[in-house]
Amino acid sequence: MSYVIATEERPALPVRGSNDLFPVRRVYCVGRNYAAHVLEMGHDLKEPPFFFQKNPDSLLASGGEFPYPSKTNNVHFEMELVVALGKGGKDIDQKNALEHIYGYAVGLDMTRRDLQGEMKKLGRPWEIGKSFDHAAPCSEIVSASECGHPNKGRIWLTVNGETRQDSDLDKMIWNIPETIEYLSGLFTLAPGDLIFTGTPEGVGPVVAGDQMHGGVDGVGEIKISVV
Ligand code: MN
Repeated sequence: MSYVIATEERPALPVRGSNDLFPVRRVYCVGRNYAAHVLEMGHDLKEPPFFFQKNPDSLLASGGEFPYPSKTNNVHFEMELVVALGKGGKDIDQKNALEHIYGYAVGLDMTRRDLQGEMKKLGRPWEIGKSFDHAAPCSEIVSASECGHPNKGRIWLTVNGETRQDSDLDKMIWNIPETIEYLSGLFTLAPGDLIFTGTPEGVGPVVAGDQMHGGVDGVGEIKISVV
């Protein structure tokens, strides 16, 4: 049997210290997971975090050039810690959640903020604000056996050398085990799934020519040029 159109290889991220790749299945993202970011977006802290997805083929592996997207005049960066699952499951208890993690990366949840805002106002899905070509720059993966399971550590982003985001993983509203427990209650998780764990405060726009440099201490860094 053969396919009637050409098939594509699964999107993948390099794994630090090896020639191996981490194949990506789905990209989940947590929204509003740092209190100061919830407030800067004008929302209420009483609402719990929530999830959305990006298309896996919107990954920009290892950063590099991020083409300014179409139909927007307000593209924002959101620096995030990324969890890479090595094991899947349903209704995973937070007590066992860390066993499901292969490793970690750092990524950006690039957002067409103007389109997202229009969709919010209309009560429509955020899709066009969040899931577009190259919308998910992501660094190489570092295995948990190498970096451990970070639950604190500086998360930061500079634009053209100027610090724009600077916070700590310990400010997450839902920590990683809680996130996996909640998410696995909604979806059956599988090896290859990534979870972008939300961004701290300081989000803002970039324009063509800008250089972004972000990282999470103890996990990794990423560099992106907006072109
Ligand atoms: Mn985000």
